[in-house]
Order: sequence, then C-alpha cells, then structure tokens
Amino acid sequence: MKCILCENKKFKKISSKDARSSEYLLVSMCCNCGLVQQNSIPSHDELKVYYSHNYRKNYKNTYIPKSKHIFRAGNIALQRIQFLNNSNITEGTLLDVGAGGGEFVYLAGKLGFESTGIEPSIGYSEYANYEYGCKVITGELNDIAGTYDIITIFHVFEHLPSPVKAFGKLHSLLNTNGKLFVEVPWIETNDASPHNTYFKAHIFYFTVNTLASCASQYFDVVKVDTSSNLKILLQARMEPTSINFPDTESVNRLRKRLYRKGWLEYLFQGKGLLKPVNKIVRAITESRVKNVKPKKILDRAVEGVNKP
Ligand SMILES: [Zn+2]
Repeated sequence: MKCILCENKKFKKISSKDARSSEYLLVSMCCNCGLVQQNSIPSHDELKVYYSHNYRKNYKNTYIPKSKHIFRAGNIALQRIQFLNNSNITEGTLLDVGAGGGEFVYLAGKLGFESTGIEPSIGYSEYANYEYGCKVITGELNDIAGTYDIITIFHVFEHLPSPVKAFGKLHSLLNTNGKLFVEVPWIETNDASPHNTYFKAHIFYFTVNTLASCASQYFDVVKVDTSSNLKILLQARMEPTSINFPDTESVNRLRKRLYRKGWLEYLFQGKGLLKPVNKIVRAITESRVKNVKPKKILDRAVEGVNKP
C-alpha cells in the first residue's frame, strides 16, 4: 500500500490493536513523510458499514444528550470561539462541519458570527434546530454549496479517507481570504492513555507537520495550538500550489517521540495520576446543571466567561 500523502511504500508499525474492541488494527507511520495512518485505508463502503453499526449507533436515532454533556460541549465551544477571537476573528459567515448537537453553532451565533452547521446524523441536526433554534443542515461535506468567511471542522479529519481532497473541497467553500479552523486529536500529546490512542474510526493520527502538509496545497498556516488537542488555523491560498512535505528531520523526531510514548510519560508528565481527582471535581461541577434546560446551560456558560 502507498502513503495517502506522499505515495511512499515504506512504513513503520506503530500499533496493531483497536483500543475499543481489542481487535487487530494495523496503524503505521510513513517512513518518508511521517503521516501515521491505518494500513490499509478503509474504502468508502467499508466506512459506511462501520459507521452504521458502530458509531453513534444509528444515524436516524433520536438524540437526547445528558445535561453534563451539553455543559462540557458548551465549555469546549467557548474555548474554540476564544481561539478565533484571539486571532482577531470575531464576525462573518461561519460553517461548522460535523456540528453534532449544535452547541458550537448556537454559541458562535450568540457571540457575533452568522453561523450554520452541517451534520450527517439527522437526530443531532434536528435536536440542534429544535433545542437552540440554530441552523444545522443534515448532510455531509460533499452536500455543501455556497461560500463562507470561516469554516470550522472539529474532530472530523481523522475520520476522512482522503484528507488532501477534503482540504480541496473546503477551500472551494471559502471566500477570498477565508479561514479554516481544524481541530483533531494530537498524536504527540502525553495527555492520552496509551491504551486509548488507536481506534478503527480514526484513519489518521496527525502531527502539526503532517496536518499542515495535507493542507499545504490549498492553505497557509496562521496559528497552531497543541495545549490539549491539535488546533490549527489556516488561511485559504489564492491559488493552489504543490504539496509541501514534512522534512526528514521532523519525521525522525516523530519516530523517536512515538517510541517514547507510554505509561510512565502519561502518568507523570501527562498528569494521568491526577485524573481520578479531576473526575470527582468535574462530577460536582456538572451536578449543578442537572435539570437545567439545554439552552439555559449554554447561556449560563457564556455569562460565566463574560465575568471579570
Ligand atoms: Zn508519506
């Protein structure tokens, strides 16, 4: 098999087990460009079967999230809006791809953006429309028409079989000088348990360099943040160019980095030891939103952020 980014055929094995099912799942790093990927990449039909059986259960199911999940999603959405604001992006037409239950679309709309979402699961999109009165269309990336000033796409790229093509599609949906804000799990983090890293649903595992390289034909990097996941803000290029591949030094550094990842690092540097305490603190905070209406939970989150 060939690397989806650079077409090289030499790989180094990283993992051979799905964290969820413990079944065999081969994940390797391309020795030339460093892109970590499943071998082989599942086909569109295989993915369809997998998602309809294993992911979000059924795409037609009704979706009723728990209060604590809305509370968490609301706070994450506010951090993402803050990331945009810190980059002087405070208004404009915004499309959120993979909008889920609509928390980000609702809050972005409340905080200055003209926001729309698109979400493949009808249960989620209907929930967002009904509960928050925001616009979330049922569909996939290829169903989108029109152009936007900003597109946000959180935790979608790791699921897509062809990231370079997806960046091309997103570029065609942006206005001149449009911005793209992508968030994916960061493979170099020391904050994830080694038992909980490689999943059948995740086809790719990105570094800053490999994600930027997948985008490089159509986008320039504006800003990167790896404080939890990998957040990257990209600026649409006027004209597409050739792919800018990661250099050999960064590939060698990644190979060493992945070799060092393990339990010791997670427990001591990644604060894995503090997780049980953090869990209790979180449960107490989240108990306060029990029986509060979904929209009210999100509105309160905004008020909390606006406090001096
Ligand atoms: Zn490669």
